[in-house]
Amino acid sequence: MNFKWQRFQHFQPLTYLQHSLGALSILSLLILAPVFSCASQNDDPIPAFDEKNAYAHLVRQCDFGPRNPGSMGHLKCRDYLVATLKKYTDKVDIQPFPMFIPGSKKPVEAFNLIARFNPKKTGRILLCAHWDTRPWADKDSDPTKRNTPILGANDGASGVAVLLELARLFHAHPPPLGVDIVLFDGEDAGESGESQGWIQGSEYFAKSLKPADHPLFAILLDMIGDKDLQIYKESYSWEYARDIVKTVWDKAAELGIEQFKDNVRYAVLDDHLPLLRMGIPCIDLIDFDYPYWHTIQDTPDKCSAASLGLVGKVLVHVIYTQK
Ligand SMILES: [Zn+2]
Repeated sequence: MNFKWQRFQHFQPLTYLQHSLGALSILSLLILAPVFSCASQNDDPIPAFDEKNAYAHLVRQCDFGPRNPGSMGHLKCRDYLVATLKKYTDKVDIQPFPMFIPGSKKPVEAFNLIARFNPKKTGRILLCAHWDTRPWADKDSDPTKRNTPILGANDGASGVAVLLELARLFHAHPPPLGVDIVLFDGEDAGESGESQGWIQGSEYFAKSLKPADHPLFAILLDMIGDKDLQIYKESYSWEYARDIVKTVWDKAAELGIEQFKDNVRYAVLDDHLPLLRMGIPCIDLIDFDYPYWHTIQDTPDKCSAASLGLVGKVLVHVIYTQK
């Protein structure tokens, strides 16, 4: 792997002042110091992630109803996501692709959404989440509900919510490297227990990516909004992108965030796999212990702003300490 993990060098205002002011008396230094320290606080290289903003994005997505491709909620939510990203960067692309749903012969139109920050930087990272929701609540305890589309507050909306709040931060405080946010469509229409039909958006995106455009590494967010947040190290991530897992978990430990658990648990078929297959180190941050997974109970009240905030905070610290 060809990237370095270096801490952001904190600016030393007093040292700088001493050099530049040279022979000025200590008294004048003391008078000037408060002015300078205010400027220093405004230039803090690590901005604060606003968990309430993120949670509002989660609720807003759910307000459109189920967002499975082919539905009205899907199109309305797509427009909302594009409009939100365009507030923070003028580099937003829509990547349409045909999506195949098991049991139906005709493909439906699906859309990956791509937003670039610091577009001219060559060293880039990729942050991603899926924005579509599952067309069937096939894990619901009530058999009569199993053909109903889910709302996907955690499974879909949570990861996107964190990325939209990060987009706001990237606009207000440009990160030290290039960042691309990709919202994948077509993740969640596979048949349970089968390997076909899942992760269609990330497959399409990964195949469309030129080798010169490969990011240094990628981080996928999926189901990170559960009120009872517990993120274990995902097995494929640990096997094929271990350095990134370690960096993220070290940062969480440094921040005292205990919801990032030390053990490896679950190997998940998710949007990180097409990127890993292309040789891009990509990890999946996922809390797979979610009792409402693929049920009609996956609603905003099962999620919390605090959980989104913890994941957002770790990501902000990982990203803004890159060089
Ligand atoms: Zn799902």
